[in-house]
Amino acid sequence: MRKGILTFFAIPILIYSLYTYAATLLIRITSIGIRKKVCNGTGIALTFDDGPNPIYTPRLLDLLAHYNIKAVFFVVGRHAENYPEIIQRMHAEGHSIGIHHYEHVSTWRLTPQQTHQQIKRTAKVIKELTGSEPTFYRPPWGRFNLATLPVSRQFNTIMWTHIVGDWKIRTCDEQLSKRLRAIPADGSIVVLHDDGSNPGADDEAPAHMLRVLESYIQEATKKGTRFIAPDELMKYGQEHGHVH
Ligand SMILES: [Zn+2]
Repeated sequence: MRKGILTFFAIPILIYSLYTYAATLLIRITSIGIRKKVCNGTGIALTFDDGPNPIYTPRLLDLLAHYNIKAVFFVVGRHAENYPEIIQRMHAEGHSIGIHHYEHVSTWRLTPQQTHQQIKRTAKVIKELTGSEPTFYRPPWGRFNLATLPVSRQFNTIMWTHIVGDWKIRTCDEQLSKRLRAIPADGSIVVLHDDGSNPGADDEAPAHMLRVLESYIQEATKKGTRFIAPDELMKYGQEHGHVH
């Protein structure tokens, strides 16, 4: 009887673990089907997740335009629908708009069909607003299920080399700035957040991020650090015939 109950619980838990945690671990350790770094890259690629946000994203776009830096924005489809003019501005200013699901939902909570829907629906919103198909995909929290890569195969999945804790206000400006300044300019991909409304983030965190980013960019530009444009993320991957 007891054994029966154990089996009753153990099998679904095992299957769920394979579908979520094991899939994520395997993909992130082996880098199969994803790119974490720009191969043979010189410089740093800036990527921003979770927007667009009506307050912070326009300020970020002003900052990037001032220094002529192009970035990849992994947008939440629903936010994109709410602020179409921000998406159109990103596109007009030469940034790349990537998919970060229609809602900020983890693939660990999605069936293969739902994962596909989250991606497809966001791609449609981006296409309708910009006239261009998105190129890049990044799942929220960098979590994969077994179906994530097969259903997103038409897009390039981009992860990161550096994540700096900018979504929490308890990461003080000094810490944030120190972490940014320590990033090597050898093809590193940095993830920052221009919206703080998603679970686990602080609403006002992007204000801190923007403040720190501005002085970081100022300093980096003076030092001659290059910022890698989105089309270079693609180029290096293709040249080498594999993804990293
Ligand atoms: Zn996110």
